[in-house]
Amino acid sequence: MYKQKAIRKLAIMGGTFDPIHIGHLVTAEEVRHEFGVDEVLFVPTGHPPHKSNINMTTSEHRYLMTVLATAANPSFKVSRIEIEREGVTYTIDTIKELKRIYGENVRLYFITGADAIHKILGWKDCSELLQICDFVAVTRPGYNKDELLKQVEELNRTYETNIHFLEVPALAISSSNIRKRIGELKPIKYLVPEEVENYIKKHSLYDYDLHLTEDEKAQMYSYVASRLSPKRYAHTRGVVEMALEYAKLNGLDYDETFIAALFHDIAKELPKEESLRLCERYQIDLDDFEKSHLHLAHGKIGAAILEHEWGIHKPSIINSIKYHTVGRLNMTDLEKVIYLADMTEEGRSSYKGKEQIKHLAQYNLDRAMYKALYSSYNYVTNILKQDVHPVTHELLAYYKQFDVDK
Ligand code: ATP
Ligand code: MG
Repeated sequence: MYKQKAIRKLAIMGGTFDPIHIGHLVTAEEVRHEFGVDEVLFVPTGHPPHKSNINMTTSEHRYLMTVLATAANPSFKVSRIEIEREGVTYTIDTIKELKRIYGENVRLYFITGADAIHKILGWKDCSELLQICDFVAVTRPGYNKDELLKQVEELNRTYETNIHFLEVPALAISSSNIRKRIGELKPIKYLVPEEVENYIKKHSLYDYDLHLTEDEKAQMYSYVASRLSPKRYAHTRGVVEMALEYAKLNGLDYDETFIAALFHDIAKELPKEESLRLCERYQIDLDDFEKSHLHLAHGKIGAAILEHEWGIHKPSIINSIKYHTVGRLNMTDLEKVIYLADMTEEGRSSYKGKEQIKHLAQYNLDRAMYKALYSSYNYVTNILKQDVHPVTHELLAYYKQFDVDK
């Protein structure tokens, strides 16, 4: 007698996997178990429309790490379908292709984390997508579970679909956090499978050696230009030029200096409400003085924008932007260079001491720092008649030893 072939169930775990971590694996395994899925297919993305590619590890590395991480599980497989597709990848195209490959007898479950579910509405051909495959919305630490449930219910009502909800054992791990930990020389052991850890070491992935291409630089320039007034952008270009000169003479990294200088004022012209909103969203710690002088917070806000919108976490760059406004004790050379370039770029109107600071910055950053701090202290207290940030007193006391006119 003819026997109808049983429907196979296939779950799809899409992601950048940059790198894959145990949060992904636990999630996939839980879906496999709960939905009686025959196979979980991991699909590393090619070029996701929402992520900038500046800091993205090559597809091949991400693919191989995914293979290493999943090799031991007989139900896990990895697909090259997205990484082999040219250009921007859309989920709808992937699902359609998988349907074609696997045929009619397969039911597809697309796994999405709590951070992605509410974005589905913005995806290409979303209503069609919701019709042709099942979705599983999984919980993720840091995202409100009830909120997720609400969103799922609302999507189900509006689109007459059946998005499933699944609570997975909580693992507060993300790829961005793992990359950040590597940059800060913190261990990633047990956060990723051992094979992945070894692979990362072997290929020195995420060591944050940036090698910017001309294209990437152009992309950064136009982003910054679009966020600043022409006047502020001209100042920024001046700071980039000056900082690169100081960096060269003081033996600092070109790319790091370039990014720090270019982005240093990225948050400078945000309206107050927007600044406050970002402080809350990115959980930025402001000290009491910054709270009452919000314009001083643009360094910290700018640094957070670079981290969240560009995925650049290298501490040397981030701190140079964070602390360029008033400085801090124990500044690195790059922090000093950005501070000094900001004060001495060609476009900045001339003031007493500017030429001397410029001259000193070319061979002794500490001597230049003393003059620069002294000059801004005078400006703020005598011309603007305002209070300086308390750290300025400490900085002046420390850098006094480098006063060339002593
Ligand atoms: P990044 O920090 O770079 O965004 P990520 O850790 O979010 O990386 P992705 O590759 O973006 O990893 O995630 C792929 C999918 O896995 C997404 O749907 C995401 O929500 C889900 N996911 C990632 N980490 C977890 C986790 N710890 N718990 C549950 N789901 C997760
Ligand atoms: Mg993510």
